[in-house]
Amino acid sequence: MPSLRFDALRMILKDAVNKEPAVANGPISDYFGKHVFSHDKMRRYLSKEANREFDKCLDLDEPITLRLADQIATAMKTWASENGVTHYTHWFQPLNGATAEKHDAFFEFDSRQGVIEQFSGKLLVQQEPDASSFPSGGMRNTFEARGYTGWDPSSPAFIVDGTLCIPTVFISYKGDSLDFKTPLLRSKRALDRAATKVCQMFDPTVKNVVVTLGWEQEYFLVDERLFQARPDLALTGRTLMGHLAAKNQQLEDHYFGSIPERVANYMKDFEYHAHLLGIPLKTRHNEVAPGQFECAPIFEEVNIAVDHNQLLMDLMNRIARHHKFRVLLHEKPFAGVNGSGKHNNWSMLTDSGVNLLSPGNAPDKNMQFLVFLINTVKAVHDRAELLKATIVSAGNEHRLGANEAPPAIMSVFLGKELNSILDQIEATDAAQFLSSTVRQKIKLDIANIPELLVDNTDRNRTSPFAFTGNRFEFRAVGSSANCAAPMISLNTAVASQLNLFLSEMEAKVKEGIDVDNAMFTILQKYIIESKKIRFEGNGYSQEWVVEATGRGLSAERSVPLVLKEFLEERTLEMFQSEKVLTEKEIHARHEIRLETFVKNIQIESRVLGDLAINHIIPVAIRYQNTLLENVKGLKMVLNDAEYQEFAKPHIQTIQTISRHISEMRTLVSSMVDARKKANSLADITEKALSYDNEVKPHFDFIRTHVDKLELICDDTIWPLPKYRELLFMR
Ligand code: ADP
Ligand code: MG
Repeated sequence: MPSLRFDALRMILKDAVNKEPAVANGPISDYFGKHVFSHDKMRRYLSKEANREFDKCLDLDEPITLRLADQIATAMKTWASENGVTHYTHWFQPLNGATAEKHDAFFEFDSRQGVIEQFSGKLLVQQEPDASSFPSGGMRNTFEARGYTGWDPSSPAFIVDGTLCIPTVFISYKGDSLDFKTPLLRSKRALDRAATKVCQMFDPTVKNVVVTLGWEQEYFLVDERLFQARPDLALTGRTLMGHLAAKNQQLEDHYFGSIPERVANYMKDFEYHAHLLGIPLKTRHNEVAPGQFECAPIFEEVNIAVDHNQLLMDLMNRIARHHKFRVLLHEKPFAGVNGSGKHNNWSMLTDSGVNLLSPGNAPDKNMQFLVFLINTVKAVHDRAELLKATIVSAGNEHRLGANEAPPAIMSVFLGKELNSILDQIEATDAAQFLSSTVRQKIKLDIANIPELLVDNTDRNRTSPFAFTGNRFEFRAVGSSANCAAPMISLNTAVASQLNLFLSEMEAKVKEGIDVDNAMFTILQKYIIESKKIRFEGNGYSQEWVVEATGRGLSAERSVPLVLKEFLEERTLEMFQSEKVLTEKEIHARHEIRLETFVKNIQIESRVLGDLAINHIIPVAIRYQNTLLENVKGLKMVLNDAEYQEFAKPHIQTIQTISRHISEMRTLVSSMVDARKKANSLADITEKALSYDNEVKPHFDFIRTHVDKLELICDDTIWPLPKYRELLFMR
């Protein structure tokens, strides 16, 4: 009987034909956005007045009348039908991190029971999916299962597989947000309002500021057959056991290396489909770990960028199957090799096209740049714990602080040049600000920033929040996360900080202090107040943990404890005063995050127990029996002295196997007891802590025994594909 793994391997060799990607000939611009009902396309279907009204609604963020919605619905339906579409769905992002859709056909009965194709403004604007099976953190009682999806006109509809998908928000019957999009939209409005006012101090013509996001998506690819032969991968997204391959990433020969053909075909395929959907994918390359890759688009307005990332993760999953791959978006699918992140490159852009985190050539523009830079640093300093809370999860926990990914300590990297300017401002005493020569000198230095940054190869890859020339890169975000989670808090934190800045400026100017001087004094204060968050050194080092703790930065890694920050008074106050989340919505999110954490650990624990008891132990016993047979045989054919010599190692192995089996059984049953205890706790925080402290610690111990047995047992009967196969067979 060939082993499962050997079967799988043979299948791969047989089936590993490279599927040609479904790529159109010709330049990308020929088909980019073909499946998107962009505002430009919509224009062609609407009357002049309707277009004007729609533009006004978008510009002023005003609700759309039902009359206009009717016209848009008809336009959408016409365009969709021309493209062979028969169904539509409201597409939304519930708090379980996935995307959801419920498809309805366009057809209706008319008054005479004839069938007509219909789509009205009412159906476009609002739908009522049964919300009872989406997480709501107690905001929706089961008897009130209704939830509403509401059209987001700022994100264009698109076609996937013959269905028109309409991006929507998802709210409860009582109007509480049950999704990521609602607070994201609110947070970008908050930041727009505050940032625009700050910009107007420099340029009164600025009308609005949008947030820009460019994500980088890391992922692993595993052959589908191997994936299916690993229940842990299939059920939890990560391997719960597996001895390291003799070779993993130590040769560093994978990063930026040539992309294997089968993988390249997959990439081209999903890129093509992404381009049809208007997702501006631009970059692809191998990542550090074997089997790990990355893609990144050109940055976009944050709401669109988030939709596009959600859509892309879906697309990557679906297209992978056509190539007999499975894509792993989990933060840490394999122990011992790098995990995957999703870097969030974040900045702000004015309606006149000025990137507020890009130092320009004019000194005044650079003063504006410094204002936004320093306020952002201050916001990250003040909200470090909250920002960390937005990115921790059961999956990301394995990655943070694991000598390969940003540490579980928030810090900001600015680079030598910017640091020296901040230091200079810090060192200038208040009276000196009044001297025009000092001011000129500082302004001159600031004016030189662009040149200084041109060759800024000084990229600190170990920082969770790094300035990279014209944007900040939040690198601690997990690869499977919805980017909106960190973006909501970052936008709100910066908005709140800019509002503080505005009010402090106003107070100083009222006192009769001139604007320049007031600005310098306030920025200087922020620089001093936020100094401890700035760190230029190696974030992966153990020394940093010690230093950071000394500075008063939190190095807490326990997910349930980190999540507590959501409930702190300062967090509630910030979200409420910026009108991004109500207290009830924050509590619900906190609860859902804890529930998700508990469920993840619970499932992992069950799968691990099952694999250990039902897959590993029986195989170990089989191999042990082979050895026992062998020992018996040796006894028959060898003389006593030979037997003593040759059977001894076998007998030792037999004993070792017994020891592993017995310890594994004890550990698994103690883990089950711990789970029972945790499950009996009613309070969700206590339950999460119990899972974290009592259940999870069993994982590594059990794994150690399994991994040892993997090295001992006969390779041909080992029931699971091994790391070397998962990581290197493509
Ligand atoms: P690297 O790997 O060097 O960090 P990448 O090219 O892989 O760089 O990714 C950089 C990302 O940052 C891209 O998505 C890019 O569009 C994005 N980006 C560049 N400028 C901005 C900006 N002003 N705002 C937001 N994102 C930006
Ligand atoms: Mg990057």
